[in-house]
Amino acid sequence: MERSEILEGLRRRPVVSVLIVGAGINGIGVFRDLALNGVDVLLVDRGDFCSGASAASSHMAHGGIRYLENGEFRLVREAVQERNRLIENAPHVVKPLPTIIPIFKFWSGLLNAPLKFFNLLDRPAERGAFVIKVGLMLYDAFTSGQGTVPPHKFEGRLKSLAKYPRLNPHIRYTATYYDGQILSPERLAVELVLDGEAEGAHARALNYVSLSGVRDGQVTLRDELTGSTHTVTPRLIVNAAGPWIDPVNASLGLSHRYVGGTKGSHLVLQHPQLRAAIGQNEFFFENNDGRIVLIFPFYDKVIIGSSDIPIENADDARCTAEEVDYFIGLVARVFPDIHITPEHIVFRFSGVRPLPYSKAKTAGQISRDHVIHTDTLGNIPIYSLVGGKWTTYRAFAAQVTDRALAALGLPRKADTKSLPVGGGRDYPWTGYAQIDFIKKVADETGLENFRPKKLFDRYGTRAADVARFLCAGPDEPLNSIPDWTRREVRFLVEREKAVRLDDLLLRRSTLAWLGGVTRPVAQEFANLMGDFLGWSAEQRRAELEYALDLLRDRHGLNS
Ligand SMILES: Cc1cc2nc3c(=O)[nH]c(=O)nc-3n(C[C@H](O)[C@H](O)[C@H](O)COP(=O)(O)OP(=O)(O)OC[C@H]3O[C@@H](n4cnc5c(N)ncnc54)[C@H](O)[C@@H]3O)c2cc1C
Repeated sequence: MERSEILEGLRRRPVVSVLIVGAGINGIGVFRDLALNGVDVLLVDRGDFCSGASAASSHMAHGGIRYLENGEFRLVREAVQERNRLIENAPHVVKPLPTIIPIFKFWSGLLNAPLKFFNLLDRPAERGAFVIKVGLMLYDAFTSGQGTVPPHKFEGRLKSLAKYPRLNPHIRYTATYYDGQILSPERLAVELVLDGEAEGAHARALNYVSLSGVRDGQVTLRDELTGSTHTVTPRLIVNAAGPWIDPVNASLGLSHRYVGGTKGSHLVLQHPQLRAAIGQNEFFFENNDGRIVLIFPFYDKVIIGSSDIPIENADDARCTAEEVDYFIGLVARVFPDIHITPEHIVFRFSGVRPLPYSKAKTAGQISRDHVIHTDTLGNIPIYSLVGGKWTTYRAFAAQVTDRALAALGLPRKADTKSLPVGGGRDYPWTGYAQIDFIKKVADETGLENFRPKKLFDRYGTRAADVARFLCAGPDEPLNSIPDWTRREVRFLVEREKAVRLDDLLLRRSTLAWLGGVTRPVAQEFANLMGDFLGWSAEQRRAELEYALDLLRDRHGLNS
């Protein structure tokens, strides 16, 4: 359904079984699960889908080996299992990622876990080979027999340096284990929304619609594009507003402190030397101050992250100059002869982890597990979804859905454990099968092979739908970026709910992330969107300036 149809439908019949506030990965996960189970569900977000914390993650589908030290065995077990499910159900976006830990010490870090247990730990000591070995053995044990990713291995100094010659020569070992990399969390999220809506007219999702208040059991929703308001009467509310859970609850008349967020920032670097030094591997290590650092490949770029800094207002999260200096300095610990300057940065991003409010001594010790808090508004239950990780969204959503189905008196009809997502459906797993798939799309549509290949890389098996769409009318490459065509942009607007220019540049594509947005590119996208959505010249100008301002302010774009 189109946006206007959904809004008109709500005006005519303002009753929904479940209203989900917040379309980050947790709200979206619940939306898809409820939709699959036939529940009349409305998902709203004050911005675009996946534009909050879920757009700021380190892109890892991981168990969180570090959480073992906090005694969070349940969480790690669940997370490694969910990591495997993500790789299996969304293979077009989530890829196995070899992760290398450079190790400088042997026994160090043994006391971290007991000190943490007795709440005596101010700052964890650097983890040595012994602690890391035990952690990785447990990590493997949680998924033994599944075979989705290979088990870990240890290698000595000489072998490690032969493989990674630019690594710090003072290392004593490297440990290699596997996690998953979510190449485009934003695409995965929007595909989950589309899958949910594909279940039928009972499942509706709206970006740019916020919850603004409540009166007599009726919730007021505001269309952020037009300013118009709508009231709906839900039987149940899911507050999935991530770092904004407390303000959303306040709009519903509840005063709780459920969330105490920490800010995390990352840089995307254009640095061919560093990119060559890491190969297809993530490097995962501790800086001297005990903070965890990630350096990993992102297409032909490198991402470095992240910080973990308490923050009061999630809207203020920006990657600061101090963080940039910190990130640049820390690469030297692992790759001492690789020099990085601010000129290598093509994109930066920052977001707030919606962690449970805690009095822990350091941010690293706050639990990364998820919890559902239940309140009521009159007789309407409100579930606040606190914490969680991208990796565990499906499991968290299943728990919320079970609780919602029970409250609504409905049975569970289907579950999402083995349900493929979007372009992960009927995925050709081997190289040969992929070549066959691409050739079949080219034969069927008459597109030259390179285009279906590009589409496959971007959309997985949805490439077949996109290719058919490209051929259904006159099409031509864009002037500013011939990698894209007019009808591909149109597809994203008509079929993927992109309504603002930055939706296209930041979330339906990876253009901005890879430093590909210049003024001419943004201008051409704005004009095309304007053609498809009927924008006036003034609206096109305004969208262009808004998107460029946002890219400058939040992502350090220079143009
Ligand atoms: C720096 C960082 C690194 C991370 N790295 C990883 C990682 O590598 N792997 C991993 O598994 N997890 C990681 N995480 C954790 C993970 O990203 C988050 O736990 C998860 O994305 C939270 O999703 P959410 O849906 O709860 O919140 P969000 O994604 O923030 O969604 C909440 C939504 O609510 C909306 N909203 C707010 N107010 C309103 C309102 N009044 N009306 C309507 N909508 C509203 C917001 O616009 C937002 O889109 C990381 C998080 C951060 C910040």
